[in-house]
Amino acid sequence: MKIKNFLLIVIWSLIQVATVYSQSAPKYIFLFIGDGMGLNQVFLTEKYLSEEKGGPLVFLNNNWKFGLTKTDCKDSFKITDSGAAGTAIACGEKTKYGYIGNDKNNLPLQSIAAELYKKKFKIGIITSVSLNHATPAGFYAHQPTRKNYDFITKELISSKFDFFAGGGFRLGNADPTKKIYNSFNEIITELTSNKVNVILNFSAIKNEKISLPALIVDTTILNLQKNWKNSVIDECYAFPYAIDYPEYKEILANYTASAIHNLINENGFFIMVEGGKIDWACHDNDAATAIHEISSFNMAIIKAYEFYLKNPENTLIIVTSDHETGGMTLGKGYNESSSSKNYYALYPQILAKQNKSRLFSDSTFVAKYSDDAQIGWTTSDHTASPVGIWTIGKGSEKFVGIFENAEIKKKILELVFP
Ligand SMILES: [Zn+2]
Repeated sequence: MKIKNFLLIVIWSLIQVATVYSQSAPKYIFLFIGDGMGLNQVFLTEKYLSEEKGGPLVFLNNNWKFGLTKTDCKDSFKITDSGAAGTAIACGEKTKYGYIGNDKNNLPLQSIAAELYKKKFKIGIITSVSLNHATPAGFYAHQPTRKNYDFITKELISSKFDFFAGGGFRLGNADPTKKIYNSFNEIITELTSNKVNVILNFSAIKNEKISLPALIVDTTILNLQKNWKNSVIDECYAFPYAIDYPEYKEILANYTASAIHNLINENGFFIMVEGGKIDWACHDNDAATAIHEISSFNMAIIKAYEFYLKNPENTLIIVTSDHETGGMTLGKGYNESSSSKNYYALYPQILAKQNKSRLFSDSTFVAKYSDDAQIGWTTSDHTASPVGIWTIGKGSEKFVGIFENAEIKKKILELVFP
């Protein structure tokens, strides 16, 4: 063979390899949603963790790509909720406030999870709040109101998705005459009769392979909160705050690791993980509690990142938020009532002294720490601020720039099915 021909063959082979490589699609996809996690919440946590030596937020490393998404829902002048925002992210279409998995005309949409499930991906849905709460529900349910908890639970069961893990289930429907379940046990019975492997004691299976479909609600964690006299009803079906129960701060990470371990297969998986209580802490204008929730959320992201490091060619991790909550500002200027009377100051380390959430104290206790740290809040509701989207892995460059949250699903599908 002439040397010229040999070189041509080598070049042609290299082009073929490069083409195959560039066409390979991600098949292990993680979508992390920090509910209510605005940019200031993220960067306050980074400052806090760097001063407290808690380790950095993995998604702020400069090997991750960054973009911004706009969160508005379909109602003019109305700021979104997790129902409309979760639907936009999951189903790729903006909808009305409070809707779950339905378009603005109340017609059902298909979520990214449902679409990938049909293509033989294994599907995992994990949340730190109840499994029928608005954000996870956007991935499997279709309801005109997020308050139809029992109808949403029915749809969770009929989704046949492979892996669910969360705090529990809220009961009831918006129309109380249409109530289906009287207790958590009734839901468990129905799941079991639908051949779902229900796990009520996570420590017993922690690192083991389990039969699928599976659903994890650890009753030890669930029972922690049942008798809280001060708690709002949502709290009874969610993980406790990491600041109140540091011994449970890794539950979300452990469930994420279990999902990875159990869902890995040749066809791929899609795992959605929600840090649901960042939002609740910010509704309470409780900065320290929000920081601890973001830190726990970060531990779950680290599990995915470790998986990515072993499978960089076919893994995509997306970290984003559905909206900002609380209108948090980093620096509130001179304040007569504050013990720290400096202009242009921020004292995140003061938040390290706060050792409980508002649930176990009161709003004055929590407000004092935010105030002393010079953290401002403009509302106890959501705001219309854009939120960050951090990505790493196969196709991550597609999520750079400023775009609508409803574009996330399309971008994933274009990568998976080029
Ligand atoms: Zn909220």
